[in-house]
Amino acid sequence: MDWIDVEEQYSSGVYAKRGLSIIRGNGATLTDSDGKVYIDCVGGQGTANIGHAHPRWQKALSDQAGILLNCPEMFSNDQRALYMQELMAAAPEGMQRVFFCNSGTEAIDGAIKFARAASGRSEIIAAKRGFHGRTFGALSATWNKKYREPFEPLVPDFNHITFNDFSDLEMISDRTAAVLLEVVQGEGGVYPIDPDYFSAVRNQCDQTGAFLIIDEVQTGFGRTGKLFAIQHHPIRVDFLCVAKSIAGGLPMGAILMDEKIGKFNPGIHGSTFGGNPLSCSVARETLKILNEEGLIENASVLGDEFQQALSAISSPLIREVRGKGLMIGAELKLKVAPYLKQLTDLGVLALPAGMTVLRFLPPLVITREQIQQVVSAVRSVLPVD
Ligand SMILES: *Cc1c(COP(=O)(O)O)cnc(C)c1O
Repeated sequence: MDWIDVEEQYSSGVYAKRGLSIIRGNGATLTDSDGKVYIDCVGGQGTANIGHAHPRWQKALSDQAGILLNCPEMFSNDQRALYMQELMAAAPEGMQRVFFCNSGTEAIDGAIKFARAASGRSEIIAAKRGFHGRTFGALSATWNKKYREPFEPLVPDFNHITFNDFSDLEMISDRTAAVLLEVVQGEGGVYPIDPDYFSAVRNQCDQTGAFLIIDEVQTGFGRTGKLFAIQHHPIRVDFLCVAKSIAGGLPMGAILMDEKIGKFNPGIHGSTFGGNPLSCSVARETLKILNEEGLIENASVLGDEFQQALSAISSPLIREVRGKGLMIGAELKLKVAPYLKQLTDLGVLALPAGMTVLRFLPPLVITREQIQQVVSAVRSVLPVD
């Protein structure tokens, strides 16, 4: 059966396809329908931090599937309560409450709603090159015209500042409900935040009474070498949005809230699937796996080695290598699509970020040997000096 043709026939068309059917995963590898094995630097687009088919994760999933899947939040539940407790214990200082949802875009939309409700203000300031998701709120904060224009008009009162540019900070004013930023811009091209700029944003938010919402949908759960990327910085944030790898690949999202945010009134927001016992139970196991198996440390140590090895490739085509932990971008002087194809032929799956950045988001279980194979594949597809 040719799955590629079947999907071509029935899919909505919104995804650019790679011409490859992936039918199995194990650790940091994926297998296609012909049995060819690839080193996975796509990482389920950032959802596979603990690796594919992790045995402990599988057990947590199947155990809870035989106990209880759904439990509306009008009832309390053991798995939800325990996950709240364990997540808050691991969360950055000051975080006190959490709202559960099912995806990244929902976490962003929820945080925008909470920030508007709690501040009584409406303006949301996001960053140019930022990506926050596809539903209307998150899309209004997203910068790329390609994602926005077909769907206008978007939600009113969203403005954009230049990421890492101090001179734009005066746009944050006493009518700003919240500033929404990524710690490392992902889809926009893997741009880490400047630590001094991050402090200046926090400061400007404090001066004006605006909330600071941080989007860690891609950077959360060990990706950058800390459980949360804001933990690289001495900064408290008001809302922290996560999803992707939170439950080891099962759909889930969350909004963590600082203690200064009060409780909200019943009914003003909600989610049918949010906080379901199945997702909470596997999210608990995911958090344990990340900590007990040294995966966060792995992201930090191997991420540095990976980035250095890529930087050491002397190709006239590489403009810059940047990133944090195992979230790495190599910006080329040409479009990346043909190089992604050549890497695939050599058994390496990677991502683009924009037109010219090769992005690597491997599961954090990737080994040093696998990284060396990826680096030599990159070296062999790029022209050298
Ligand atoms: C992927 C992503 C989102 C959107 O998450 P979905 O689960 O696809 O809705 C939002 N923000 C960032 C930074 C992301 O990388």
